[in-house]
Amino acid sequence: MSESFDVIVIGGGPAGYPCAIRAAQLGFKTACIDAWLNRDNTPAFGGTCLNAGCIPSKALLESSEVYHRAQHEFALHGVKAAGVTLDLAQMQKRKEAISRSLTGGIKTLFKANGVTGLEGHGKLLGNGQVQFKAHGGETKTLSAKHIVIATGSEPINLKVAPFDGKNIIDSWGALDLAEVPKRLGVIGAGVIGVELGSVWSRLGAKTVLLEALPNFLPMVDQQVAKEAQRQLVKQGLDIRLGAKVTGAKSGKSGVAVEFELNGAKHSEEFDKLIVAVGRKPYTNGLGVEAAGVQLDERGFVKVDKHYRTNVQGVYAVGDAIGGAMLAHKGIEEGVALAEQLAGHHTEVNYNAVPSVIYTAPEVAWVGRSEEQAKAAGFEVKTGTGSFVPSGRAKALEQAVGLIKVISDVKTDRILGVHMVGPYVSELVAEAVVALEFGATTEDIALTMHAHPSLGEVFHDAILAVDGRAIHAVNKKK
Ligand code: FAD
Ligand code: NAD
Repeated sequence: MSESFDVIVIGGGPAGYPCAIRAAQLGFKTACIDAWLNRDNTPAFGGTCLNAGCIPSKALLESSEVYHRAQHEFALHGVKAAGVTLDLAQMQKRKEAISRSLTGGIKTLFKANGVTGLEGHGKLLGNGQVQFKAHGGETKTLSAKHIVIATGSEPINLKVAPFDGKNIIDSWGALDLAEVPKRLGVIGAGVIGVELGSVWSRLGAKTVLLEALPNFLPMVDQQVAKEAQRQLVKQGLDIRLGAKVTGAKSGKSGVAVEFELNGAKHSEEFDKLIVAVGRKPYTNGLGVEAAGVQLDERGFVKVDKHYRTNVQGVYAVGDAIGGAMLAHKGIEEGVALAEQLAGHHTEVNYNAVPSVIYTAPEVAWVGRSEEQAKAAGFEVKTGTGSFVPSGRAKALEQAVGLIKVISDVKTDRILGVHMVGPYVSELVAEAVVALEFGATTEDIALTMHAHPSLGEVFHDAILAVDGRAIHAVNKKK
């Protein structure tokens, strides 16, 4: 007889494991199956985010930033640190330790909440049944009233520059390099391109980013994106917009990349080439065809607004269903689904999903850019606050960037907040709360911000919407 559960979640990444924990908290007998194997063949919950994405990339971003500051900034503070050298093996060891401590933590959480964690592969068999094949061999059939697909995504392989695992690498390969490449090429100046490009550039790689689109970070307000581009170029990133890669040949000593730019053909040699042109849904070996679960034309699992697939009792969340491919979006979906299964009315507010790029300065945004708000038919007012005169930013030696507020002329409601500057990954939380509560600029104008703090720059941007900023030159009315 098959072992039976109320809920089986297939995939233990940021969408799957919180779904399983919340379901168990709500009284469901729950199992979470995850197939992830690390390079050393050890299984780990946490999916892409904890093992090969969010966490290891942030660990390396922080370490490389410390190295960069030690070389270029310590002296300004009057701190003499002679002979600063790089110990990349230690940097990588620290990164691994952070990931492992978090993935191990999920097992503890499963235990504490009564989730059965199963390490191995899950496959839909139809009729509420799932085949579980443990790493190492044992296969059994499980059944559940509710089955959740949370199998995530994988990097897109580019036909003209296919991954070879040696010189042409994906983001996981780029996180694991044992040596700093002298010359690094990156195809795609999106989120991964600029984050991992920054890491290796700070560690000494001459880094060139080849981006197909003519605009840098088109999803970000263009005033903010331009400032981010300016700062990243100043740090040494060579960002080439409108570049069309036509081929990449991997050889003994590296990779030769051919591309077209401004109507001319170019060829450039790199030691390593990172291809970061987006991710696609991962449902390989899941048995969606046999179970009759419909995918859309791009391979995402089709769901309604309650995360129900076309098959009764089968649901899907996270990267596998598309939308913003972000860990926190997956977490919220997983939790909302578990609560909906328990009869709650939880919903995810897709108008208030924050995005962050962890470069230095960081870029963060929530809601609409000025361009998007205008395209959606809003009459907008905008205000900007600058980090340049901020006392706190100056003390941090990071007085660059700006915060831009986009608001609706008719209602004074905040439509979006886009920012580039120090710690904006943290500052964006205030803007998310503002959007979640439908705040007007007046609500925030009347909200006191500590001095000196980076939050004052948000306050200034809000005040600037109506030409009353204290620390900025206001637009003439
Ligand atoms: P995943 O995390 O991909 O997890 C899916 C899990 O399902 C995996 O463990 C997989 O092995 C397992 N699985 C698949 N098929 C099966 C099967 N048949 N049986 C059993 N298990 C299966 N997002 C952020 O919000 N912030 C960041 O800073 C950030 N940084 C990133 C940096 C990088 C380099 C990358 C690549 C991504 C980053 N992301 C970031 C994106 C984030 O990692 C994803 O949005 C998130 O991991 C998606 O969660 P998920 O649970 O849907 O899928
Ligand atoms: P992305 O969509 O952010 O960027 C891909 C870039 O590649 C785009 O700018 C695109 O125009 C460009 N591109 C596509 N095809 C190209 C080609 N042939 N030649 C040159 N350029 C080309 O995707 P990504 O950077 O691979 O990241 C994947 C996902 O992971 C994203 O959805 C992102 O949200 C997520 N992620 C998030 C974070 C974070 O939240 N900090 C960090 C890393 C990754």
